[in-house]
Amino acid sequence: MRSDDLLAFAETVKGFMPRAEGLALYNAALEQAAVLPATWLEVGAWCGKSAVYLGAAAEQRGAVLYSLDHHHGSEENQEGWEHFDPDLVDPFDGRLNTLSTWQRTIARALLEDTVIGLVGPSSVVASHFDQPLDLLFIDGGHGRDVAWADYESWAPKVLAGGLLMIHDVFEDPNDGGRPPYEIYLAALSSGHFEETSREGSLRVLRRR
Ligand code: SAH
Ligand code: MG
Repeated sequence: MRSDDLLAFAETVKGFMPRAEGLALYNAALEQAAVLPATWLEVGAWCGKSAVYLGAAAEQRGAVLYSLDHHHGSEENQEGWEHFDPDLVDPFDGRLNTLSTWQRTIARALLEDTVIGLVGPSSVVASHFDQPLDLLFIDGGHGRDVAWADYESWAPKVLAGGLLMIHDVFEDPNDGGRPPYEIYLAALSSGHFEETSREGSLRVLRRR
């Protein structure tokens, strides 16, 4: 698919990524001059929306994007919470399950050779994942423990010159939860990362 068509398709995928932020994700990834074979990874796949934006760039760059999720949703996706979607409940066990929707998204985008699913808890996968990363997008759970575990287990794998992108960073607590903002601050104050751009709640940092 041409990148224009892919970006238009991405907009139709269920998810929590406004168009401007999706395009910012795509553009930042596309600028990443890759030393092949480049390895990219996103934490938080949901139905594959950000995977299509990043996958569109990965395909052009010859990179592979790992798209990681346990596919049972975050706290705010569960029944009774703000972002619950009954269509994503698996009648087999009554649990939320986004895996087959994610698979269909990647298949429809013709990105099956570029976007590879990793199914499981983020910290378990991280402790068995040795490949250095040219790009990391953190968009997983927003609970304090989960967000910090994502940052602490994945950010050290980002190579010098590589990108660390964080979603749902809200300076104002009225706009959303704190943990993504806190890990963003931690990345900056670690001295290892500098901010290169931002769009909405997306922050793009580069490893020095
Ligand atoms: N990037 C997606 C949105 C991700 S929503 C998009 O563009 O639409 C956050 C996702 O993180 C949810 O699908 C949830 O299942 C996943 N998640 C939360 N905590 C996780 C954990 N500890 N391990 C793996 N996935 C997790
Ligand atoms: Mg998000």
